[in-house]
Amino acid sequence: METGKERENLHNERGVVFNIQRFSIHDGPGIRSTVFLKGCPLHCPWCQNPESIRLLPEIITRNIKCIKCAKCAGICPQRAISIGEEGRVIEWGKCNYCLKCAEICPSKSIEASGEYKSVDEVMEEVAKDSNFYRRSGGGMTVSGGEPLVQWRFTLALLQKARQKGIHTALDTTGYADWEALAEVLNYTKLVLYDLKHMDSARHKEVTGVSNELILENLEKTVKKPGLKVWIRRPIILGFNDSKDELEELCRFVLTLGPTVEKISLLPFHKFAELKYTATGKVYPYHDVPILSDERVEELRRLVLSHGLKADVGK
Ligand code: SF4
Ligand code: SF4
Repeated sequence: METGKERENLHNERGVVFNIQRFSIHDGPGIRSTVFLKGCPLHCPWCQNPESIRLLPEIITRNIKCIKCAKCAGICPQRAISIGEEGRVIEWGKCNYCLKCAEICPSKSIEASGEYKSVDEVMEEVAKDSNFYRRSGGGMTVSGGEPLVQWRFTLALLQKARQKGIHTALDTTGYADWEALAEVLNYTKLVLYDLKHMDSARHKEVTGVSNELILENLEKTVKKPGLKVWIRRPIILGFNDSKDELEELCRFVLTLGPTVEKISLLPFHKFAELKYTATGKVYPYHDVPILSDERVEELRRLVLSHGLKADVGK
């Protein structure tokens, strides 16, 4: 537990935030504000927030808004921008994310993604919907990226929400030092805990990290008093949608006891594809098919057949 001086420092903490999504209904119970923090140690190729992977601010583009004024090309110290027939073109390999183009662009065709914010600035935004939280049983969810990359900032946000009587949830990959996670959980009521694959080698091959730490942390998390856990399983065709893989997940979840309330299946979709090109990245799952509704329902019933609660989320 932190000392009084450390607590004061925590409340001076600033974090890199890339979105505060008000009126969210998919990140915990009721109506919520989800605070998205930058930085993630995993590299899941289906990631819905590709702008969350890098810890520091970057640029995000909307070509359709470009008026070809060339101000960005003139200010770019890396000479990464040129103006062609179709508008502004960025050579992403040259960009060092200085953000100068975003600052000068008059039409918001280039904007910064990610901004340093204080705890009070974030909480001022979150507190605007306190009435909705009270009436709907909602609150604040801290998400990412992986919010534990900025764990001190996450901790400070959750502490402040607790002080204001706002319900707190943490959306995590579980890939973090246990000491940091344990401290953050002291101010969390609900954990949305991702489990992407039960086989460690396969997990590492696709996400870049193995799953041992994630599973160990989950086994410790469910022992913390006063917590509820919802397991989240993104369902990706050809990666983790087999009956055997889902049954192994269910068998593991059954060992965790009543702290786990349900498994939420999150079928892969391609809504994020445009964000990849907008941030200079290649979308690796362009050709991966999405699952049919029938297949998703089949998998949901498989979870139910193990005596576990299951729903389909987004
Ligand atoms: S953010 Fe990248 S493209 Fe924009 S001015 Fe800086 S180096 Fe150039
Ligand atoms: S500053 Fe903005 S509007 Fe002007 S050319 Fe660059 S991207 Fe287009």
